[in-house]
Amino acid sequence: MKVSHWVEDIAEEMLSKKKEPYVINSGMTTSGNPHLGTVCEFLYPSVIYSYLKAQNKKVNFYFEIDIMDAFDSIPENLKHFKTILEPHLGKPLCFVPDPFDTSNSYGEHFLNEALEIIKELDIEMPQIFKAQDLYAKGYYDKYVFIYFNNLDKVKEIVENSSMRKLPDDWSPIMPICDRCGKIATTRVTTFSSEDGYYEYVCDKDIKYTKGCNNSSSGYIKEHNYKITWRLDWPARQHFLNVSIEGAGVDHMTKGGSWDTAKLIHEKIFNSDPPVAYRYGFIMLEGKKYSKSKGKGFTVKELLEIIPPQILKYALLKPDIQENIEFKDTNYFFLTLIEDYIKSLELLDAVEKKELAYENLKRNQQKNVAAVKISGKFYYKYSLQELFIYKSLYKDWKIIEQITNPIEEKLKFYVDSWSQKNLIPEEYFFEYKPSSNPHLLVKEFFANISESADALEIHNKVFEFSKSKNIQPNEMFKLLYNDLIGKDKGPKLGKLVFAIGIKKIKKDLNVE
Ligand SMILES: [Zn+2]
Repeated sequence: MKVSHWVEDIAEEMLSKKKEPYVINSGMTTSGNPHLGTVCEFLYPSVIYSYLKAQNKKVNFYFEIDIMDAFDSIPENLKHFKTILEPHLGKPLCFVPDPFDTSNSYGEHFLNEALEIIKELDIEMPQIFKAQDLYAKGYYDKYVFIYFNNLDKVKEIVENSSMRKLPDDWSPIMPICDRCGKIATTRVTTFSSEDGYYEYVCDKDIKYTKGCNNSSSGYIKEHNYKITWRLDWPARQHFLNVSIEGAGVDHMTKGGSWDTAKLIHEKIFNSDPPVAYRYGFIMLEGKKYSKSKGKGFTVKELLEIIPPQILKYALLKPDIQENIEFKDTNYFFLTLIEDYIKSLELLDAVEKKELAYENLKRNQQKNVAAVKISGKFYYKYSLQELFIYKSLYKDWKIIEQITNPIEEKLKFYVDSWSQKNLIPEEYFFEYKPSSNPHLLVKEFFANISESADALEIHNKVFEFSKSKNIQPNEMFKLLYNDLIGKDKGPKLGKLVFAIGIKKIKKDLNVE
């Protein structure tokens, strides 16, 4: 089956422009819990990688961890660690302590969390490079000299492409202060192109932190520096021989860092820039899903709510440049699951040749392609059905005496929805059969076969209402009242089926 998905367009564009062996590159900053945007940073290149591997192309997949970036804000969900973390603002993430004390540094802690997520999402594991190691091994050193030797030209490129004026004492590198350990507060005062000797002062006030007023010096070969972001990016693409790299809209917009990187490749390195692709933002309730704000579920939490296949589906279904709207609400997740199941059924039908992929509507084709890339997850019972059973019988052991065995993973999701208070209100009820049921309710149950399934029961309410010349809504209300003492509840057919028609007939004294 040939699928129409953006991965194909992007990969084909790269194949037409670059030569083997191909290098797919991506990266992330480990400045907080990985969020959905972080997932895109490894999910998108990984599907391009899989696509190329499936075509037997020689291809490598690299992933950089920007663990040398300055720690510039304490995420909302870590505010309780303020006293531990605040003194470290402005230091590289790899030199900030891990407040959880489980990893070597703050940056490593969230890197480890990201690696766990990659594993759980079952996506191709890239070769990981930590910026700290790349600097320590000297990969960047020659670029410092290139940038300083072409300082005016480089500065002009950065100014024009970023559309902002740089200060007179602007420098392409940020030394790490040898007194306070901060990287965000230093400024270079002299640089020698001969031996890479430089002097710096640590006196910048950058709102979230201030320098310590230290004056000191160092050599590039000692590797206690980092190149500024806009110049770091093209340098690493150059020494890794990157063929293709994507980035979010913020980097890829006019004045964004990609404009700088492209010009640095062309005008300073005299080389062909990698093929670039751009992806949209993940939006939460209309705003960018941001890790620094610490709002919204973390990816770890999302994976306790929906299976990894469905999370991937949600991220791979839209066009690559589209913003993806996420909501942290139970109905959003339930609708997403239903949408996934429909597309999965279509894919199964296509694979069994019951349907022709070409005959599907364009959006169905896209959805089917997204499931094919994301993987299959089957629900033997819908979550809504299991919410009903859980509300009625509480204990899984009792439930499984009534139903068929239920997969551990499904039980896990139901329990985790419950812990996160995500189960919709209509699933909170008790079975309270009325001692004095309405005559219509008794008549309804008298006319229903004990072997009827949920759909038959549901349809029967409409037939019965019609025959009695009453509104179906009224009939539903009577039934809910006599079964659970409420005007509304979960889907009636499923509710009645879960309680059991035989039991209801007995409890309501139906002849
Ligand atoms: Zn300092």
